[in-house]
Amino acid sequence: MEEWQLTLRWQPEAHQQAQFQQLYALTLAGNRQFNLTRITEPAEFWEKHLWDSLRGVQRFLHEDWESGGRRQKAGGRRQGAEGAGEAGAAEEEDKTHLSPFTSFKVIDIGTGAGFPGLPVAIAQPNWTVTLLDATRKKITFIDQVIAHMGLTNATTLVERVEQVGRQRLRRQAYDLALIRAVAAAPVCAEYALPLLKVGGCAVLYRGQWSEAETTSLEAAVAVLGGKIDAIEAFTTPLTQGDRHCIYLKKIAPTPNEFPRAIGIPAQKPLG
Ligand code: SAM
Repeated sequence: MEEWQLTLRWQPEAHQQAQFQQLYALTLAGNRQFNLTRITEPAEFWEKHLWDSLRGVQRFLHEDWESGGRRQKAGGRRQGAEGAGEAGAAEEEDKTHLSPFTSFKVIDIGTGAGFPGLPVAIAQPNWTVTLLDATRKKITFIDQVIAHMGLTNATTLVERVEQVGRQRLRRQAYDLALIRAVAAAPVCAEYALPLLKVGGCAVLYRGQWSEAETTSLEAAVAVLGGKIDAIEAFTTPLTQGDRHCIYLKKIAPTPNEFPRAIGIPAQKPLG
């Protein structure tokens, strides 16, 4: 899959390529039993599930840190050269504990068939990835994939994220929270920020994005102890689809009232 070279600075090793192929085969097989995803053609699977999952965490991957992160610190150059419309404090000196040399604790909220969490677990064996979804059949499928592939750095959880965010052992426990195609952005922020350590980062995977959305997200995030750290705009490499990744940084503990009770964040979004 030489397609990896298209606009993704991280490149998989041969054994990881094989793992991605295996993930594709298992997803196709699982789809017959569990009806997991509409994305089944090889090129579409590669672009929308593999490439897209990894593009969101590119800034945390080792090689990108080497080529982009350090230079950004030294020269004030913004990351995501192909992205228009970056915002926030991307040029600031990064003062968080986040570094690609750390073993991140990652949670993928509303992982569905395992995206973006499974590709991330394959790409970064030093990270531990918790795949969370409220739907048992999706987690049953992911458990089978994890067992079949022997992914020792991935675990699953069947729960509503509003409950998980109130659990002593899970609240404020993660370095990185990933959330793709789950809810409106302020709702995703309320799901993700309580789970992060101060200094941690949430990645909101979005399609199109507007200034108005930035404004309402900013208001929600401020209440939750976070700030918008950066917004990266890019297009997918095969079909040129619009994508945005919104990076939220947690800068203070989230007040105890958040996340609100099950269903309330989605019914009455902040912001
Ligand atoms: N993230 C995957 C992707 O991008 O392919 C799946 C997206 S799917 C459209 C949304 C998933 O979020 C569903 O599997 C659903 O069960 C889960 N979900 C929605 N709200 C949730 C909540 N409050 N807690 C846990 N999971 C939730």
